[in-house]
Amino acid sequence: MAQRKPIVAGNWKMNGSIELVSEISTAISKYKNEQVDVIIFPPAPLLCKAAESGVNVGTQTISEFDSGAFTGEIEAKLAKQLGANYTLVGHSERRAIFGETSEIVAEKFAKAQEEGLIPVLCVGETEKQRELGETEKVVAEQINAVISKLGIAALSNSVLAYEPVWAIGTGKTATPEQAQSVHKFIRDMLSTQSEPVAQALQILYGGSVNDKNSKSLFTQPDIDGGLIGGASLKADAFVSICNSAL
Ligand code: PEP
Repeated sequence: MAQRKPIVAGNWKMNGSIELVSEISTAISKYKNEQVDVIIFPPAPLLCKAAESGVNVGTQTISEFDSGAFTGEIEAKLAKQLGANYTLVGHSERRAIFGETSEIVAEKFAKAQEEGLIPVLCVGETEKQRELGETEKVVAEQINAVISKLGIAALSNSVLAYEPVWAIGTGKTATPEQAQSVHKFIRDMLSTQSEPVAQALQILYGGSVNDKNSKSLFTQPDIDGGLIGGASLKADAFVSICNSAL
């Protein structure tokens, strides 16, 4: 089986400050563990500051378009120039609040790769969809939108994040077994198209991960780290989550 390096990523959403960049970057630079990749996704106005502080950074979204008359949007090329290495695409808040369809998400995924950013594709079902037994169907559709546009090989230069919508910001974490079952479903689904891509792909879990539950999630065989929201805003908790991925 392929050895996959764990990733612990912090999605700050529209939170944080210049002071928090200093605090978290100091904590992360002390952490220095080569066995885990740590990434911060601060709000766009803090991107430069965070990149200058030496942490590995990404944007929370990018535009699917090149530069032009798109007021308020984040250009992938510029984000890269400012020091971003990654971008989230298809976070459930972008899908639900900003109306991003899976097709738009696939375009953003493509634009990210075109400009040298590694896309972190976020997928996950709502509570209602889980109750209806549609979890696998929803997740497969969200991933297949990217594969049908770009082909399976595009996933080899990306990261996936399974984030059940009902677990995001709610304190209701998926159990390790629930999360592992969806991660395994994703890997098995991809392996029917390319075993090497499926085995190499880092699949993160996101949804109310904290320093108490991270270890039991991260030790599941198909969970390769986490995408952390609320708990990534507290330096101690975040570093402790990073340690639990070792
Ligand atoms: C997220 O925003 O991607 C997330 C998982 O948030 P939280 O950890 O707060 O549930």
